Amino acid sequence: MILVDTHCHLETFADIDSVLNQAKTCSVEHVVAVSQDPSSMRSVLDIGIERPNSVWVGLGLHPAWVVQNENSLDLALDWMERHSSRADVIGEIGLDFKYADDRRQQALQRRVLEVQLDLAGKIRKPINLHSRRSQRQTLQLAIDFKQRTGLNAQMHWFTESKKLVRICNDEGIFVSVGPTVLNDETVQQVALEIDRSLLLLETDSPVPIDGIENFPGCVRQVAQTMAKLSGSELEDVAAQTTGNFFRFLGVDQP
Ligand SMILES: [Zn+2]
Repeated sequence: MILVDTHCHLETFADIDSVLNQAKTCSVEHVVAVSQDPSSMRSVLDIGIERPNSVWVGLGLHPAWVVQNENSLDLALDWMERHSSRADVIGEIGLDFKYADDRRQQALQRRVLEVQLDLAGKIRKPINLHSRRSQRQTLQLAIDFKQRTGLNAQMHWFTESKKLVRICNDEGIFVSVGPTVLNDETVQQVALEIDRSLLLLETDSPVPIDGIENFPGCVRQVAQTMAKLSGSELEDVAAQTTGNFFRFLGVDQP
């Protein structure tokens, strides 16, 4: 059995190899290490180069960072473009209106997101999207991206609205479920709505969930919960979601 953590902040852990080894004992063999700013982009690239069989590299500028670092944007985008051939995914990118409370900041996030979407299209890589307080807007950009480029989009931690998940199903947009599914009934109902062929699993670790420590190995609990909720076996959820992940990437499953 093989599981994938499709969204985590691996570079923030002090001992990355022990985190990955622990994940392996939970059958989590693949991890997407997303980035959010220039220093995490550099770290994630180094981590991925040293561990090509288990770590998939996500390069991206997070929308919260974007509005707090306006003067550094051009340099950061330039660095990202120059190193983009080594990315497997463009992410974590998106919109975050918690950190953009006026129209000017929202427009800035959108402009930087569009630059990164164009880059993903150019290098033919899928995208990993953050959409806090901007779910409809971000989803629409994901749909436009997919229609324009034929490349895949993942709505990360997108388990707040059944209605929006149904739009993802219709448009072929992947949706990832995180550890909130373990004990939040609303999240559970939304997660069950995701088309099985578009379901991905993630942890967003090390972000703690309900004060509980979170790491890539916790994907196993997410998978177990999805199996229980849908009345299927853990092995079937693993096979389905791992297959989905490689289809999302557009590469053959090793
Ligand atoms: Zn994240």
